[in-house]
Amino acid sequence: MSNERNLWVFIETAHNEARSVGLELLTPGRRLADEMGEELVAVVFGGDNSQPIQAIQALGSADKIISVEDKQLEYFNTDCYAYVMENLIRKYSPSSLLVGATNNGRDFTPRVSCRLHTGLTADCTQLSFSAETGNIVWTRPAFGGNLMACIECPETRPQMGTVRPGVFKRSVCEPKRAGQVINEPSNIPEDLNRIRVIESIREAADKIVKLEDAEIIVSGGRGVGGPEGFNCIRELAAELGAAVGASRAAVDSGWIPHYHQVGQTGKTVAPKVYIACGISGAIQHLAGMGGSNVIVAINKDETAPIFNYASYGIVGDLFEVVPALTKEIRRMKAE
Ligand code: FAD
Repeated sequence: MSNERNLWVFIETAHNEARSVGLELLTPGRRLADEMGEELVAVVFGGDNSQPIQAIQALGSADKIISVEDKQLEYFNTDCYAYVMENLIRKYSPSSLLVGATNNGRDFTPRVSCRLHTGLTADCTQLSFSAETGNIVWTRPAFGGNLMACIECPETRPQMGTVRPGVFKRSVCEPKRAGQVINEPSNIPEDLNRIRVIESIREAADKIVKLEDAEIIVSGGRGVGGPEGFNCIRELAAELGAAVGASRAAVDSGWIPHYHQVGQTGKTVAPKVYIACGISGAIQHLAGMGGSNVIVAINKDETAPIFNYASYGIVGDLFEVVPALTKEIRRMKAE
């Protein structure tokens, strides 16, 4: 395994722009690469990679950028992405690969690990390096979030893991690395691609991204009582320029689509302000929003566990408190 060197971070793109998660992963990637004494390499696939390359270089953390441009890579498709990644890994022999745990990352990364007969730890929430074993320690929730498993891949390379969007924050590295670009051909065989993209709906993608990138999130739980209960949540969110989140109980009840779900089986978010309305604070919900800077909890039960984590707690009926907050914010904005 001594020949395998350098830590790779996959930069996922959408509409020829870098998605946030890959840029976030450059932060732990830089730290781990330094600890491992290796280079950090960003790997980007797309139809036109000029914007993603600029975004990577602006952060200054990647020593090198491997760019593969091909019309067939403009939209995600699992056959082509897995094929190109497998071949690049065989050519360059990286020691490690980090990929965002998006739908696409979760789709093609297991195929790559399977073809290379190496290990993959999915949905990690922490990453560290063990100088003792020389392996990355991948930490992820197990048994419904009740325990954190620390996983190593001691016998094969590359060691691979997916990490949820929002777990790490983007950061600018000083001094900045130039991020030298290496262009690689895709070499995709003609008969490989079995998928044809007929239409790409940008609006849906924007909605999905918005929650993870939002600085303020107003979330509703079972306490909103039904789909109409989200009206007051949406009104407050609109006044604050915030995104709307939800607990799994609200999503499972069919009151709001799944892409709003925050938590262990939903999105991981880290906004400046998270306003939890009618949410009890189950461990699986906290797993997705515990990294928020300020948590405001509105709940009519003063013993609700969410109050143990909240920076500010309001004990009361959300149907009185939330409209009152909206009204007050409107008044303050009008002044
Ligand atoms: P409840 O726990 O029922 O809480 C509702 C709260 O609303 C109560 O505290 C109540 O006092 C309050 N309330 C009621 N009416 C009002 C009112 N009018 N005004 C103010 N407060 C009011 N959950 C997630 O959220 N995200 C996940 O990703 C997730 N993943 C999971 C994964 C696994 C493997 C498992 C087992 C569970 C997962 N869960 C997840 C579910 C989680 O355990 C909880 O069941 C869920 O978070 C509860 O949602 P809730 O807080 O909205 O509902």
